[in-house]
Amino acid sequence: MPSARFFDPHIHCTSRTTDDLEAMAAAGVRAVIEPAFWLGQPRTTVGSFVDYFSALVGWERFRASQFGIAHYCAIGLNSKEANNEALAKDVLELVPRFALKEGVVAVGEIGYDEITKAEERAYQWQLEFARKNDMVVMVHSPHRDKKNGIRRSLAVAKEVGVPMAKLVIDHNNEETVQDVLDAGAWAAFTIYPFTKMGSERMVQILEKYGPERLIVDSSADWGVSDPLSVPRTAALMLQRGIDPEWVRRATWQNALDAYAQSGQIDVDALLKSPEIDQSKLFNDNSVLRGQAPRVLGAQPSGVPN
Ligand SMILES: [Zn+2]
Repeated sequence: MPSARFFDPHIHCTSRTTDDLEAMAAAGVRAVIEPAFWLGQPRTTVGSFVDYFSALVGWERFRASQFGIAHYCAIGLNSKEANNEALAKDVLELVPRFALKEGVVAVGEIGYDEITKAEERAYQWQLEFARKNDMVVMVHSPHRDKKNGIRRSLAVAKEVGVPMAKLVIDHNNEETVQDVLDAGAWAAFTIYPFTKMGSERMVQILEKYGPERLIVDSSADWGVSDPLSVPRTAALMLQRGIDPEWVRRATWQNALDAYAQSGQIDVDALLKSPEIDQSKLFNDNSVLRGQAPRVLGAQPSGVPN
């Protein structure tokens, strides 16, 4: 049994293998959020989004559950594909149909990529939807011109009237964290291997800013990324002598507090060890290939969270 419990509130499970899910569970990842995003290959028809959103609330949720990981998702039109305006219009109409389903904890990931007018229109529209439905919003920030992108994301969200307590800005770095914290929003950090934000830098950020509203995630997807970023970063933080309570907040509690505002997370169930029933099927499909199904009932976990 892992010695701590982690929440990875940003990972694209659809791009990951069952080996990853197994390794995550073994490392203590108890819950994840999979936000809707770009798939690398640009989509050409709205039907592709219907199937993708369906997989996020259906198949991927089931697949994660087969390894003892609670899977939640965020539904939204990503900034990159917002630039295909003809398609974007149809996808935006689809968002309300999926965003209010069970297991959806936020509208996301939305925001800016190249900071275009089309991106801004899609972002504003989805913020309005989130505000009207009292939803949490997960914001993707641009890789280029990040500081301005984040400032604008915050300003537009304020203008629309989204409460800052319901706004999570992701992919932060040393240059942007203060703006996000000053605004009262949650500041999430994606820990990538080798580049951008690494675990070492995250240790320093936590040391400097403390644990208030800081969230660590992996954003692991179809690119070079690490589905174990959250437990690995937590291990490094502890090794560097950071207060275990701070580490717990940045790698578990804060994400839970932010996204449990959706009312979609059964917090008590997450505190028990997971129920696993690999004899279950989803649309007649199993993740197994002839292996004996593992079946485990929920139990008090003994993990000190
Ligand atoms: Zn993402």
